[in-house]
Order: sequence, then C-alpha cells, then structure tokens
Amino acid sequence: MDPDPQSRSFRRTMYRAAERLTGRRIEATYRALLAHDTLGADEIRALQWHKLKALLEDVYSSVPFYRRRFEEAGIRPDDVRGWEDFRRLPLTSKRDIKAAYSHEVVASDRLHTRLIERVTTGTTDAPLRFVIDTEMFDLGVARALRVLDWAGSTLGDRMVQLGPIRERRGLQHRLFAHMTQRLVLDTLALTTSSTPLCCPADTSVPDQIDLDRAGRYCRSIAAQRPGLIYGYVTDLLALAAYIEHTGFTGIRPRAVVSSAEILTDPARRRLETIFGAEVFDLYGATEFPAIACECEVHNGLHVLSDSYVVEIISDGRDASPGETGEVVITDLDNRVMPFIRYRIGDAARATDRRCSCGRSFPLIDMIEGRTSEVVVAPGGRLLLARRFATILQEMEDVRAFRIVQERIDRLDVQIVTRPSWTSQHGESLLQRIRALVGEDMEVTLSQVPDLAVDPSRKERYLYSSVEYDIVGGRCYRS
Ligand SMILES: [Zn+2]
Repeated sequence: MDPDPQSRSFRRTMYRAAERLTGRRIEATYRALLAHDTLGADEIRALQWHKLKALLEDVYSSVPFYRRRFEEAGIRPDDVRGWEDFRRLPLTSKRDIKAAYSHEVVASDRLHTRLIERVTTGTTDAPLRFVIDTEMFDLGVARALRVLDWAGSTLGDRMVQLGPIRERRGLQHRLFAHMTQRLVLDTLALTTSSTPLCCPADTSVPDQIDLDRAGRYCRSIAAQRPGLIYGYVTDLLALAAYIEHTGFTGIRPRAVVSSAEILTDPARRRLETIFGAEVFDLYGATEFPAIACECEVHNGLHVLSDSYVVEIISDGRDASPGETGEVVITDLDNRVMPFIRYRIGDAARATDRRCSCGRSFPLIDMIEGRTSEVVVAPGGRLLLARRFATILQEMEDVRAFRIVQERIDRLDVQIVTRPSWTSQHGESLLQRIRALVGEDMEVTLSQVPDLAVDPSRKERYLYSSVEYDIVGGRCYRS
C-alpha cells in the first residue's frame, strides 16, 4: 500500500522485532493463511474436512458438553464420514453455551491454564462469556490481517482501528500496536447523545458527536497516514460527518474496512465519497474475528472456509441460492472453547456465484442483520431490518429511525426528523414501507424527539416482540 518499498520492508522488520519482544506469534499464521488464496475449491474443501475430523475427535475426548451432545444424538466422531453426517450433529445455541459455561464447554486440559475471558457485544441477547488463550488471540489477529490484505494492506502497513474498546489493554499490547504501526482509537465516547447516527444522508454534524474528540481523532489519523482504516460503521460515519462539516483534509486512506455492523448501500456510498477510498465489508464477531470478507471485486463476501465451516440454514436445511437463512459456524481451529454448529444469530443470503478474483473461497451474498432483527409479515414472509434501513437512510430529512413491531400485523416506524421534513415526505415514506411489507400489515409513522441508543453501541434498527426461528422456519412467539 505504501509506495516506498524500503519503508515497507522496514516495517516488516519492525513487525518481527515486535513479535520477538512481546512473545506474540502472528506473522507465520498470517502467511500460511494467505498461501491458501491460491488453492482450488477441492483443495480447500479437503483441508476443511481434514481439520473438521481432527476437531470432532478432539472435542469428543476433551469437551464434556460436546461429548454429551454427540452421545444424545447417537453419533461418535467415527460416524461422521461425510458432510451429511456432519449435518446430523446438533446445533449449538448461545443459551446452551451459557448454561454449560465454563467447566463443561472449555477443553478439560485447558481449564486450569492461563485463559483470557472475552464478552460478546450482544445487541439483542445478553452478552456471551467465552475464553481463549494467547495463541487463539494471535490467530484471530492473523485471520483479520489476512482479509485486510485483500483490501490492499499488508503486514506492517500503517493502519487505524476504530472501535469501542471495553477492556484496558496492557503495556505489551500497546507496545505491539505502536511498533507495528497500528493506531487504536477507542470510540466509546465519540458519540454523546442518545440518538443513533444511523442516517448517512445526514450532511450536517449531528449534535451527538463529541466534536473535540472527533477533531482529535481526525488529527491523529492524519498524522498516522494510514493506508487502511478499519472500524464500526457507526464510528466511520461519525468521522465522515465531522470531516464533511469542518472540511478537514489530510485523511486519505486507500481502503476503509467496515465491520461489526450492517453496511447498507447508502452508508457504503457515503464512506466512499468522504474518505475517497474503496470500501470493503468484513463480517466478523467477537467470537470469530474474521468470518468472511469482500475481495477487490466486491462480488459478495468470501467465507474463510480454511478456518471455518459456515452453513446458512433455513427451515432445517441448507438455504438455496438467493434464500436467506441463519448463519451457523464451526471454528476449525479453536481447541480452547470450541464452537461447533454454533448459531451466531445472524442472517445471510446464500449464493452459488463464483468470484472472478481467482480465490476459491465460497461466497455468501450479504449479511442481512441479526436473526432477532427480522420483521415477520403475516403469512411468515421475512423482511430483514436492513431492507427498512436502506429506505430510511435514503431520506435526507430523517435524522434517525427505528422500526417497532409489537404484533405480527402491525409496524410502527419511529423517526427523528429535520426541520425540512414535510407531510409529503411522510406520505412518500409510508408508501415505500407499505410496498415492502405488503397490504396485510398496518404501518404507522411516528415522529419522536429522540431515540435511546443501545448500550452496546451497535446500530440496531428493529425492536420486535414477534420472535421467529429461521432455522426451524416457525414463529414461536407473536
Ligand atoms: Zn473474490
């Protein structure tokens, strides 16, 4: 990414020195993963199968939770001879893991070793606690760096990472970040009021941005001269709003990688325009740092199938191309607290399209949102929150919005408007929402002065009391 190869090689040397000094091990794994980019589809599938078999053997002998579940299903690892057998293994929910945490779900030989406890940033569910070790931590970094490579940033390149950093990072982490040219900015306090920044059509600086902090961060980013900026969509949009409002110049990354939240088309266009950079969508989670990512062709997200088995399940079977289903993940490398056929709680659309970039990793079409953020229309039709967000984000006079579904046949669209809002805007919005949900649903529009923000700070568009199980294909509360 940096035009000067000498300085790039210097930074690579610094990276190695940082690893030696801090005892981290990232580069070797990163390079091994990158080498998989040239494998063919059959080779990747064979590698995946080989890792899966070893994983199943291991968890059966070392993790009481999975051993019990396999036994209940009447399957031993030896019985898993093909993908059909694998699909007979029970699905694992967040609730199952919570009930068994920690002694039942952590590998027995790791229980009394030094482990790091992490907590997910659940938006609709209570957070999940899980543990990793330093090796898994570094593997997560290598997995993320490997996909950032697809966005044109190679190991040791200057980058900026934005996100709500909850835990205090120790001296070793700070030293490593400093030596490896990574600037980490904590965005927990970047936005101040209770209105979420979910309208990228917004061209003024929303009053909820902490302007002093945004200015400080922009100056730090400009001084860092990063090739790549990586962060939550909300935080990237907050900086974009500040840059546009103040005319701040000096931030010119080649690539912006958005993660942790849904990247809608209007948000992508806005980030592209303001940062003047190519925008890449990365799908990851606290438990799985990089699951799938766009390549330079932007033809969907490549699943990192050398590291995970990712299934998209609808109605108890694999979703067909074009169909939306629930994402179910098996981490092929995690031996500390394994996740096997784990229902992460996201919905995605399946595709059998191939990418022209030459990488054989399969594609998924898009991450459509949390499975708990699905509007279920009468008759069982599913509409993901993202569909509503795309309509609302295109309306320049809407500052913030939320969809509330209290009954299966009723939807309330709550909006915070700008002074330029008129009743004609309201009519046009209602028309578009009604066209989306169909005639058998009553839609109301409410103008509200403010919207309370989710404490997890992830954008959340939909608040629904109608619950739907995509995997099972049924409503279980309405
Ligand atoms: Zn590709």
